Amino acid sequence: MKGITSTEEILTGEGETELPDHEPEDGYFGCSDSRLRIEEVMLQERVEDELKHLIESGIAPDEQTRERIEEEQREELKDVQVFIMRNTGAVALKDDRNTQVWLEYFLIVLPYKDNKPKKIYLSGHTHCGMARTLLDYGDDPKKILLETPAIASLVKDLGELRTRVLERAKADGLDIETDRETILRRMEMALVHLGVENLLGYKVVKDAMANSKLEVYGQILDTEKKRIAYRKTAGEILGTEKANGGVTTRFR
Ligand SMILES: [Zn+2]
Repeated sequence: MKGITSTEEILTGEGETELPDHEPEDGYFGCSDSRLRIEEVMLQERVEDELKHLIESGIAPDEQTRERIEEEQREELKDVQVFIMRNTGAVALKDDRNTQVWLEYFLIVLPYKDNKPKKIYLSGHTHCGMARTLLDYGDDPKKILLETPAIASLVKDLGELRTRVLERAKADGLDIETDRETILRRMEMALVHLGVENLLGYKVVKDAMANSKLEVYGQILDTEKKRIAYRKTAGEILGTEKANGGVTTRFR
């Protein structure tokens, strides 16, 4: 492969380049799903924000303006640092060593750029395979135990959440067969809400939030449109979560 550093270069430190400081302001906890490129989603978000500002100030942006904004934002994004954690399903669990290491590294080891608070985005997404697996096998994880014991164990651990989503769906008159996609969207959102609650259980997160050094968000990415379909602060999520048993916000 062209341009690859040889083992010798690595061991002797030759070929090293000047790196920029590592001071990411954003922490992204997302799904391993390879269809989700966070940079692409961030670009869409920035372009949409800019366009909204223009429209609000009475200017109707044409195609050319849109292209120029996209170019500018693409350039600006090159300097944005994101500290990333991914796992299958973007499931943030309690007492998980990988999650804790990521949190400690992001919130304690890495510096705060210009002393500004950091942000964590727990990002679920539409059409998530993990949510589908939970829906399909949650009533009997033993069905997938032999070939995929770790997945079966996770599905079992999330059984209560699944039951809550299904009960709520039933109460709302949804049918597990005909309203499957709606129920899946609810499952994905419930996973995000649970993840935010779990993240807030880590002491390192609690401390950072208490000192106004951190904001936590839960969000859903639209896998098809590559954009953020839903975003709420931890406060908004947990306030409603507790009152309504998991699924309060309609997916738009
Ligand atoms: Zn996924």
